[in-house]
Amino acid sequence: MKYSIGIDLGGTDIKAGLMGTDGKLSCRIIVSTRVSEGAKAIAIRIAQTIQQVITTTETETHQSDDSKGEIIGIGLGAPGLIIAGSGIIHFSPNFPGWTDIPLLEYVSAELDGINIPLYIDNDVNVMVLGELHHGAGVGYENVVALTLGTGVGGGVVINRKVYHGTWNTAGELGHTVVQPDGRECGCGNRGCLEAYAGARHIVERTQQKIAEGRKTCLNPEGLSPKQIAQAATDGDKLAQDIFSETGRYIGVALTSIAHILNPQIAIIGGGIAAAGEDILFQHIRAEFAKRAMDIPGNMDIVPAKLGNDAGLVGAAMLAYSDK
Ligand SMILES: [Zn+2]
Repeated sequence: MKYSIGIDLGGTDIKAGLMGTDGKLSCRIIVSTRVSEGAKAIAIRIAQTIQQVITTTETETHQSDDSKGEIIGIGLGAPGLIIAGSGIIHFSPNFPGWTDIPLLEYVSAELDGINIPLYIDNDVNVMVLGELHHGAGVGYENVVALTLGTGVGGGVVINRKVYHGTWNTAGELGHTVVQPDGRECGCGNRGCLEAYAGARHIVERTQQKIAEGRKTCLNPEGLSPKQIAQAATDGDKLAQDIFSETGRYIGVALTSIAHILNPQIAIIGGGIAAAGEDILFQHIRAEFAKRAMDIPGNMDIVPAKLGNDAGLVGAAMLAYSDK
């Protein structure tokens, strides 16, 4: 079996793992990112985790040089805008002050004696790649994906390849406008899907309704989307309304996306998607069914399958040339 190494670089943790061609992960390692120490220190830590995965693999298999040869590549998923084919992070919201950081070069310089090709892509594209090959996207050609977290990430797959666009910025589905004069979004625009379905915005919309006098069991202080989802499950009407409205906005965005791209399937993941079928997904589907044209309206809307592993699996998939 061939293997590849996946690295999921986040603002809090660096996760690494070894993946076989069957998509199964082993040799998992998690270390703290420690953003404040800067890009070079982070590159050293990434290189160390790679070394550690390789050493563990050699020890756990047959301690021969052959096992090293079986690792065909190393993929790294990182947040932010990555310049296509260059390994340079142009900008990343999770790493303040990083401008045009040649992360791949930094990591390569630390990988002494390891001659395995290294690849990098944006973390959302990487998650989509993971779902495409080993998750909810298996068997589909044309796929879109949304990740509902702090922000709303997106990815587009055309003919089983992630579509990057001219300047590597394609797939910003979270910034589809769903309300022209709507809430302010972090991107500078107004009324983006993210300004309704991003974690902070779900909390703010709830707090606003509480301030307007809506009855609820929720305490506006220290509120999280998870608490709101739980309250919705427990029957809290305000919490249910917040999620049904969130679902409606996602359905509105998906309608435009389906009309533009005609994908077979929309995969929805991220922490907020964990609210599930009754609280969230049924509202997305109902709104989409109401709005979409006959034929593109056949698009299926399904939850992501890989959960937190999508980033690692997808990063490891970067090692395959037919990705
Ligand atoms: Zn936006």
